[in-house]
Amino acid sequence: MNKGVLFLVSGPSGAGKGTVLKNFLPKHPDMFYSISATTRAPRPGEENGVQYYFMTAAEFEKLRMEGGFLESATFCGNSYGTPRAAVMEKLEKGIDVLLEIEVQGALQVMENYPEGIFIFIAPPSMDELRTRLVGRQTEEASVIETRLARAEEEMALAEKYTYIVVNDIAERAAEDLEAILVAEKLRTARRK
Ligand code: ADP
Ligand code: 5GP
Repeated sequence: MNKGVLFLVSGPSGAGKGTVLKNFLPKHPDMFYSISATTRAPRPGEENGVQYYFMTAAEFEKLRMEGGFLESATFCGNSYGTPRAAVMEKLEKGIDVLLEIEVQGALQVMENYPEGIFIFIAPPSMDELRTRLVGRQTEEASVIETRLARAEEEMALAEKYTYIVVNDIAERAAEDLEAILVAEKLRTARRK
C-alpha cells in the first residue's frame, strides 16, 4: 500500500490560508487536517480541539521536550507545533495529511520529511495583505505590524516551496490547490 501524501500549506498571516482551505477541505473529507497546538489565546468562537489544541507554555514545552512535535516554531510571541503521532499514523495508513503552518516550521518539515508537497499561499501584494489583516479584525494594530514585518521575511522563502499559489480570488486559489492535489496523486511513483 502507498503511504499517504503530506501536503503542507503556509504563507503570511492574512494571505488567506484559512479562507482557501475552508473552500478546499469540505471537498476532501478523507484527508486528515492536522490540528496544531498553540500557546496563543483562543479568538472569540475558537474551541479547544477544533481550530487548535490550546496549551499553556509549560504544557507545550513538555510535549516539545518529549519529541511530541513533528515541527514547532515561535510566531509573534506564541508557540505553535504539529502533533507528530497523529500525522505519522495517518501517513502510514495511506491517508493524505494536510498541515497549515508558518514558514519556520515548514522549513523543518522540508528537512525531516522531504517527500512532502510544500505549497506557499501568497497575497497578491503587501498592500492587499495589510488590508486583509486589518479587515479581519482579529488582532490589534501592534500585532498586525509584527505580522506584516514577519510577512516580508516569509515572502523571501517562498522559492523553497514546491508550488506557489497567489490568493487573488479565493475560489481560484482553491482550484489551484485542487489541481496540485490531483496532479500529485497521479504521479507514476504513487500509482504502484
Ligand atoms: P490566514 O489564514 O492566511 O491568516 P485568512 O483566511 O484569515 O488568512 O484571511 C485573512 C482575511 O482576508 C480574512 O478577513 C478573509 O476573509 C480575507 N480574504 C481571504 N482571501 C481573500 C481573497 N482572495 N480576497 C479578499 N479577501 C480575502
Ligand atoms: P494564527 O495565530 O493566525 O492562528 O496562526 C499564526 C501562524 O501560525 C499562521 O501562519 C499559521 O499558519 C501558523 N501555525 C499554525 N499552526 C502551526 C503549527 O503547528 N506549526 C507552525 N510552525 N506554525 C503554525
